[in-house]
Amino acid sequence: MGKKEIDHISRILAEEKIVVFSPYEDEIYSEIEKCQNCSLCLAFCPVFEVTDKFYPGPRGIADELSRDVREFWRASNIVYMCTLCGQCQEKCPVNAPIPEVVVLLRSKIFVQRPDLVPEELKTLLENVSKYGYIFEPMSNEERGESLKGRLEMIGLPLTKDPPLEKGSKIAYFPGCQAETRLLDVKEAGKLVLEAFNVNYGIPEGWKCCGLPIRLIGDSAMADELQRGFFEKIKELGVREVVTTCAGCASELRAAAKHLGSGIHVRHLIEFLFEEVGVDVISRKACNGGNVKVALHEPCHLGRHVGRYVVAYAERILKALPNVNYAGMKGADECCGAGGLLKFHDPTVSAAIRSRKLDVISKSGAGLVVAPCPLCTVNISEGVARRKLSVGIDDFTVFLAKRIYSKEV
Ligand code: SF4
Ligand code: SF4
Repeated sequence: MGKKEIDHISRILAEEKIVVFSPYEDEIYSEIEKCQNCSLCLAFCPVFEVTDKFYPGPRGIADELSRDVREFWRASNIVYMCTLCGQCQEKCPVNAPIPEVVVLLRSKIFVQRPDLVPEELKTLLENVSKYGYIFEPMSNEERGESLKGRLEMIGLPLTKDPPLEKGSKIAYFPGCQAETRLLDVKEAGKLVLEAFNVNYGIPEGWKCCGLPIRLIGDSAMADELQRGFFEKIKELGVREVVTTCAGCASELRAAAKHLGSGIHVRHLIEFLFEEVGVDVISRKACNGGNVKVALHEPCHLGRHVGRYVVAYAERILKALPNVNYAGMKGADECCGAGGLLKFHDPTVSAAIRSRKLDVISKSGAGLVVAPCPLCTVNISEGVARRKLSVGIDDFTVFLAKRIYSKEV
């Protein structure tokens, strides 16, 4: 090859900003080549269904992106439409890791073509830089009033945040949503841990778990935050993290492994089931009247952490006095909030939620509990808009009410 040709190829590479993969990334990316183009995943992709085929779906991502490396940039909009629900991979006969590839593509776009990162996602990233959380927090006064009113309404006491210190067994990680929006989830998590005499504390100055940062594409910042968090709690001799958020649980668990931190991360449901036991839980959580309860299975819990956690949640609900557990067909269908789609394309996100509301309406349940504050907020908004008579509660709040409140 002569100099002229080499110059020509170099110019194309520079103009097209063709992506260079590390060997590790190349390994993930090459997994997509397993795709057999069978189209089975299209039947399960919620975005494909509600966008009337505008979204090419998982098969489209596999097909387009593996055809030509230049398609990489042209497909940028596609990768922000994915909710990362994982339904495609679960159903795929060759287990093509579409969600993993989507996250990798977002990280490449963030580094090499930041102009293609949607503006609304950049705003979320700025919030993390400014406040440490993905959402702007309320003022102390506003937060105090909101929390007091909410706890009074649901019959739960207000307690102090115990600091994580040497000798604490568990670091309780509330997550951005529970710290800045669904405040009662953070309180309920504390109350449930206290009800079972767990020696826990909240790490001082904790920040976002890193999931939304990684989904925007800033993997370096996500890694840095997570490394710092694990180091801080390890300095106190703490080796366990418990969270009430499905997204935080899946992200922190993956990060703990990826960074070789030696930290064990569990969702509160796992912790309670494995350490406390269903019998003890059901003896404590004995308040409240008869209610027919269904479970929404967050994608980040059921598919990203593991189905066994959903099975634990079901076992706990079935054991609670006066709780009539109702199986819900479509319980594991995405609510539409994941992958930051709720912020990137609220219309498509709401259309996916609408399918979930149909599932809930058909369940006949009086109450649906979701072990994730993000899903809880998203589904609650949809229920209010559609004026459905079913109640929606975060799993942890529901459990805390059954333990502490005489009025549920
Ligand atoms: S990703 Fe899997 S399910 Fe989808 S077309 Fe390819 S092989 Fe089939
Ligand atoms: S992860 Fe979910 S939204 Fe994304 S392509 Fe797969 S099925 Fe579709």
